[in-house]
Amino acid sequence: MKKQIVEDKDFLHQKSKRIDMCSYAEEKRIKTILHDMKDTIAMSPKAIGLAAPQIGELDRIFIFLRYPSYKRQVVINPEILEKLGKPENLNEECLSCPGQTIENIPRFKKIRVKYTNEDGLSIIETLTGIDAVVYQHELDHLDGIIITDYLPS
Ligand SMILES: [Zn+2]
Repeated sequence: MKKQIVEDKDFLHQKSKRIDMCSYAEEKRIKTILHDMKDTIAMSPKAIGLAAPQIGELDRIFIFLRYPSYKRQVVINPEILEKLGKPENLNEECLSCPGQTIENIPRFKKIRVKYTNEDGLSIIETLTGIDAVVYQHELDHLDGIIITDYLPS
């Protein structure tokens, strides 16, 4: 079911919980959340990523559309193992901050990551370009960080 995108900053500033991949009850709950996330991202034409807190679930899950295939990638319990090269300052938008473009967000264009995929397999891979940037944006959501937090104070 398509869910309303959460824009409440206090909610979005909360940290999401790790998912226990061995629990059957969790498996069922996660399936439902993933279903809702897929429906929600499919009906948000400009979105290339969506994190669980954005639909009101404080779980360490996000979805992003891989470049250039736009194939949907489910990411559970994401980690960044290594950031390669130097960060670049980029402009970003977010479904939870409609109408806002935030400038100069430092992101790495190449990262080595580890996560669990939709089939429960542990994946280690290197992401580059937009995939790397989206991964960092969505992982920020799970740590309670949103793009407006990068605004100079
Ligand atoms: Zn976002």
